[in-house]
Amino acid sequence: MIKVNKISKAFNGKMVLKNVDLQINEGEVVAIIGPSGTGKSTLLRCINFLEHPDQGSIQVDQLMVNAAHTSAKEILALRRKLSFVFQNYSLFANLTALQNIAEPLITVWQQSKQQAYASASAILKDIGLADKVDHYPSQLSGGQQQRVGIGRAMATQSKAILFDEPTSALDPEWVAEVLALIKQLAKQQQTMVIVTHEMSFAREVADRIVFMSDGEIIEQGTPEQLFTKAKDPRTQQFISRIAKHTGD
Ligand code: ADP
Ligand code: MG
Repeated sequence: MIKVNKISKAFNGKMVLKNVDLQINEGEVVAIIGPSGTGKSTLLRCINFLEHPDQGSIQVDQLMVNAAHTSAKEILALRRKLSFVFQNYSLFANLTALQNIAEPLITVWQQSKQQAYASASAILKDIGLADKVDHYPSQLSGGQQQRVGIGRAMATQSKAILFDEPTSALDPEWVAEVLALIKQLAKQQQTMVIVTHEMSFAREVADRIVFMSDGEIIEQGTPEQLFTKAKDPRTQQFISRIAKHTGD
């Protein structure tokens, strides 16, 4: 469903992504792991052209966007097929939980007010925040804010949701509820690509784990393969360092 073809990206002359190929199938949950600074966020951002790749193309279903010749219209079409969940929830401070989910449906998706508010309130119920409709972000915990951020991504019914370290900005006490919501989506066969440093979560929720290092995909496979039978020494080293760190 998503095909990343030979994507490259450099910042200030330094190659951050080197000819990356990646395919995501419908209904699949793919976790991207790897040391920090190796291009995981850049790859995710290139998938919906939040970062313009220097080379390569992204295909989502029938839509093919080539970095060498893009139009604003194509990029918009691509972004409509994918939604993105950021580390810092990026909610509008002056809008309630309900409005944060409904407003993009009205402004970006041209839904009627009535329709948008009906779907937003259904989503809030789904994510266990039905009692918070009229709360502003400042009145919600970090975990609740991030759940609203995920609810906003769910509301657009996009083909896939891309998550960039969705729990790394949270106080530890709020991590579990956010991971639980992502698991709930995985059960519903929502296609997702998740950059995460939560290894036991990745292991549990992902159909496939992709290990990146130094701008390249080094190895990928099922959680079982990657965590217990990694072939590349760089993967082995990363996994064993993490195991030592967390006692897994
Ligand atoms: P990761 O998510 O794996 O930690 P990133 O994709 O954020 O890695 O970053 C990869 C490299 O690219 C890092 O060296 C980072 O400093 C650099 N980088 C990322 N974004 C930018 C940017 N907008 N401008 C310059 N350098 C960047
Ligand atoms: Mg990152």
